[in-house]
Amino acid sequence: MRKPIIAANWKMNKTLLEATSFIEQVKGEVLPKSKVDSVVCPPALFLAQLVELVKNSDLEISAQNMHFEESGAFTGEISPKALEDIGVKYVIIGHSERREMFNETDETVNKKVLAAFNYHLTPIVCVGETLQQYEKGETKRIVGSQVKMAFAGLTEQQVKQAIIAYEPIWAIGTGKSSTAKAANEVCGYIRRVVAEQFSKEAAESIRIQYGGSVKPENIKEFMSEPNIDGALVGGASLEAQSFLQLLEAGCNG
Ligand code: PGA
Repeated sequence: MRKPIIAANWKMNKTLLEATSFIEQVKGEVLPKSKVDSVVCPPALFLAQLVELVKNSDLEISAQNMHFEESGAFTGEISPKALEDIGVKYVIIGHSERREMFNETDETVNKKVLAAFNYHLTPIVCVGETLQQYEKGETKRIVGSQVKMAFAGLTEQQVKQAIIAYEPIWAIGTGKSSTAKAANEVCGYIRRVVAEQFSKEAAESIRIQYGGSVKPENIKEFMSEPNIDGALVGGASLEAQSFLQLLEAGCNG
């Protein structure tokens, strides 16, 4: 059985006070780690402080991005070694907003995934097709090739621990989510790609989230699909009560 994982991707939202007050509101209420992995991905500025705040709770903290190099002349970048050092557990890699607006490519995604494992960070690797690719029926080809390239050079053991977030780009922040059935079909296809590239065991172990306009009202539909193990949630994760409802529904899905 794969454990559900629900992650709140705050993107570039919240002040420090808003971030800490969210954590104070939810940390006593989240479901135990044995039932669901509950992850908050705040802006990088707040990572160190939030890692301290979630100590002795079942919440975990994720970065939204990082560089693949450990250190050097990379003005403005985030070091994976520094993330590990402050106690961050996860890192989102290759979110479509980074691919579209910040020159993230399949190659840099791959380098970052490899670097994440070197620093004991669990990567949440985002894949997904554009509206145009979706309309042309290219979803599986695009998503399959993103997965293959992201995981090149990984060991089977690493793949088992990685997380994939399937996020159709046309569903992100639009209020227009994929249907649960269609998302499940793509997630099933991703498992077949992983089985071919690595092994059947890796395909069965890897956790795959759906993302794109997930909210408390629709999360159950997604979670009840056999190939979907959780959700990466943007807009609906910004309010504490909404995030708690997502966790609740997510682990009973
Ligand atoms: P959304 O964002 O839930 O606001 O659609 C999801 C994401 O970008 O991870």
